[in-house]
Amino acid sequence: MSPTPSPHSFAARTEEHLLHTVGVAPAAASATELMHAVAQAARAELAQRWVQTQAADRGARARRVYYLSMEFLIGRTLSNALAALGQNDGAAEALGAHAKAMEEVADHEPDAALGNGGLGRLAACFLDSMASLGLPSFGYGIRYEYGMFAQEIQNGAQVEHPDPWLADGTPWEFPRWELSYPVRFGGWVEHVDGKAVWRPAGEVAAKAYDLVIPGHGTKKVSTLRLWKATAPAHIDLNAFNTGDYQRAATAKNEYENISWVLYPNDSTPAGRELRLKQEYFFVAASIQDMVKRHLDEHGTLSNLADQVAIHLNDTHPAIGVAELMRVLVDEHGMDWTPAWAICRRTFSYTNHTLMPEALETWPVGLMQHVLPRHLEIIFRINKEFLDFAAQFRPGDNGFLSRLSLIDEAGERRVRMAHLSIVGSHKVNGVSKLHSDLLVQTIFADFAALWPERFTNMTNGVTPRRWLAQANPGLSSLLDRHIGHGWRRDLDELHKLAPLAANPEVRTEFMEVKRANKARLAALIARTTGVQVNPDALFDVQVKRIHEYKRQLLNVLHVIGRYQAILANPKGPDGQGWVPRVVLFAGKAASSYHMAKQIIRLIHDAGRVINNDPRVGDLLKLVFIPNYGVSVAETIMPGADLSEQISTAGTEASGTGNMKLALNGALTIGTDDGANIEIREAVGDANIFIFGLKTPEVQALRASGYQPMRHYEGQPDLKAVLDAITGGQFSPEEPGRYRGLVDALLWGGDHYMLLADYASYVATQREVDALYRQPAAWCQRAIANVAGMGVFSSDRTIREYARQIWRIEPKP
Ligand SMILES: *Cc1c(COP(=O)(O)O)cnc(C)c1O
Repeated sequence: MSPTPSPHSFAARTEEHLLHTVGVAPAAASATELMHAVAQAARAELAQRWVQTQAADRGARARRVYYLSMEFLIGRTLSNALAALGQNDGAAEALGAHAKAMEEVADHEPDAALGNGGLGRLAACFLDSMASLGLPSFGYGIRYEYGMFAQEIQNGAQVEHPDPWLADGTPWEFPRWELSYPVRFGGWVEHVDGKAVWRPAGEVAAKAYDLVIPGHGTKKVSTLRLWKATAPAHIDLNAFNTGDYQRAATAKNEYENISWVLYPNDSTPAGRELRLKQEYFFVAASIQDMVKRHLDEHGTLSNLADQVAIHLNDTHPAIGVAELMRVLVDEHGMDWTPAWAICRRTFSYTNHTLMPEALETWPVGLMQHVLPRHLEIIFRINKEFLDFAAQFRPGDNGFLSRLSLIDEAGERRVRMAHLSIVGSHKVNGVSKLHSDLLVQTIFADFAALWPERFTNMTNGVTPRRWLAQANPGLSSLLDRHIGHGWRRDLDELHKLAPLAANPEVRTEFMEVKRANKARLAALIARTTGVQVNPDALFDVQVKRIHEYKRQLLNVLHVIGRYQAILANPKGPDGQGWVPRVVLFAGKAASSYHMAKQIIRLIHDAGRVINNDPRVGDLLKLVFIPNYGVSVAETIMPGADLSEQISTAGTEASGTGNMKLALNGALTIGTDDGANIEIREAVGDANIFIFGLKTPEVQALRASGYQPMRHYEGQPDLKAVLDAITGGQFSPEEPGRYRGLVDALLWGGDHYMLLADYASYVATQREVDALYRQPAAWCQRAIANVAGMGVFSSDRTIREYARQIWRIEPKP
């Protein structure tokens, strides 16, 4: 029997919520009901902190940052909230009374998967840091009814299911009933006495739902305000009364579908108009909200730029530049020139990709149809900008057409990145390499005009979720040896470095890793049915499936290794093979055929390899379905080797690389994105870098890359590709992977897998050699953890706050 909790304790309040809020007999409560009750007890404390933070910021008339993002990949909230509130023990006490463990109960919360991958997870890590640094801040986004699709694997292929994460309600949101803003679409523009009057064709109401983002080590919180689209009138009552129920419902749906689904970011024309409406919808609601708050506090918009920083997470919210101009000029009667000055001082923009095909553009015709007044504003911004730019290179029409906000080649399109740059005072990339390449390549003309506008903010991850919460074993080791301070000051990890030489610390560290691998092995068994040996080297590549990330290069190595094991059971140097578990996870955009084929090949090859008795435990190839934040939280701590193998110059930063190294995995990676800075931080001896570097990739492309030469010249590589095209892994459909291999051999191998293959395989041999020496491996793994302090998102947010937003974080 556990003792009765004291009446005001967290446990007692949880017990009350079980009866009063959840409405069940406490003795009969299920794990889900307990999850809700604990969440309600935590929610009450969060509400208090939210009210206090708002009052303090209002009282101080604080300068605030508004982080606009189409995606927030939050994951679960319960464990994070309890840690931030200091209520882990209280919750354990509450659950103990019901003979339940925290882990089991927490598992019943659905992930808030309001994002696709790295970009959305970055936004979530940033909110955690903004709250923990006490930065007056709001995240603004969309309350998608259906988040990122759930991935199921059927016969080795990806099948997508909707993600109705709100179906059973979420204990974490605060509906703000009184907060509703109209958002208008379509129609036409009249010009009356030199004033533009927009006559929209339709209107939808944006309703606010808040998620409170707790800070750690502070009572400050941040707010994630998500907008839900609601039809202005519930249903068309006329239609309803005449019995036309269908029409009544259609009118409602036509508006409300704006916040229904998160689109996988790589998808194609389908639903493009809806996507544009989504972008404008949440931006327009957010700007109305911040303007209202500003007027409440200051009574004038003339000082808006002194009090408000608006950050664009990629170009999805870029229409905000035109919207703020419309609000200032059309609705508040400000002159164009001062309005534009305010705009430029208010906005800043983060670019996330160098790939030209991934830069967002909208057909002028579509924008005319959906946002006619905004298109006019964009044309005026463009005219004034091009007049300005022409002074620098008179007569250079190429320069001007490259800079223009309108792409005039073919169907005219609005370039959202150009609008973002012109409308912002700072533009940043997300790693040193990426930021350098931005000004050398896609934004070179803008950098020639405004070199001081471009800067770098290397990404980071929150140590609260990705170490303290995900890896309790390592956290407790750190607490014992270097104290508790690392949660709020990740640079404290430096203190671990000298301990790598201490055999007792190494033993402890290895025990922690072994336990995490056992936990991961259990997840693999549960989700794939494959039993893996926790003592094998766990080789992990988890991220969205994309050709540039080169999961296929990894598969080629696995198949090459399989063939080598069969050909040479004693190992390449007679010392036997290091047993490996190669683990993949990740989703493919639903319209991305090649990515889906890669998932299929992983499963087909895995089935053959995993069932070959000659291989046994020496090699396993597994794919954990439905990658997301919660799955990642189990994978990261159990990894030995982190695969970060994108073609040099293609991965803007990566943050998966940071989470894995922070949890003691060694990186095998290319000279790309943040891998370069990880190498600088942990030291050359503690990372495996291979392959072509960015200038070499560029040079090879320029000189005429011939992938076939590698096929003809490398018998081991040829054997791998021949096995795939020969149907060895798909005997029921031998031609299944023709397209995949043809794209390498005949399609130009755009991401240069074959050029990097030999270097990759040779480096994997070095990995094996090191893994044979457990003490040496462990020493390097510890050096990785010790060097990762700089990759805390707290460091990143401090840099944004000081250098871009000009808000000093409160101590
Ligand atoms: C960190 C993270 C990502 C980003 O991974 P990369 O390897 O940087 O592409 C994507 N999805 C989830 C769920 C993550 O946690």
